[in-house]
Amino acid sequence: MSDKIEFSEATKEEAWIRACGEDLLWARCECRVRRHRHRNGRCPNKIHWEWRGREGGSTYWEAHHKDPEGPDDPDNCLIVCGTCHEEITAHQQKLREIRAAAALERLKNLLE
Ligand SMILES: [Zn+2]
Ligand SMILES: [Zn+2]
Repeated sequence: MSDKIEFSEATKEEAWIRACGEDLLWARCECRVRRHRHRNGRCPNKIHWEWRGREGGSTYWEAHHKDPEGPDDPDNCLIVCGTCHEEITAHQQKLREIRAAAALERLKNLLE
């Protein structure tokens, strides 16, 4: 059901440059999800370019799709730390389950 487009390297690099400061190897997580209650509204976690693609923990980062069906564009690409990515993914999964349950309920009502 997912039509998610993988980001190209160029898109990820452009988003990364936006997220990092003068030191190109270190960026700051761009997560501003209110639910996470980050101090000052933005996640303070620092991430290293070479942590990309690592699994688990907070020492990895992901190029997150703001809009899952959106384009391969830096504006749609958020650089997020592992901790935030896991929370975002878990939350999306929960929403999907709620929606699936609601759809099933509607279907049942139709059949009754
Ligand atoms: Zn974060
Ligand atoms: Zn966050």
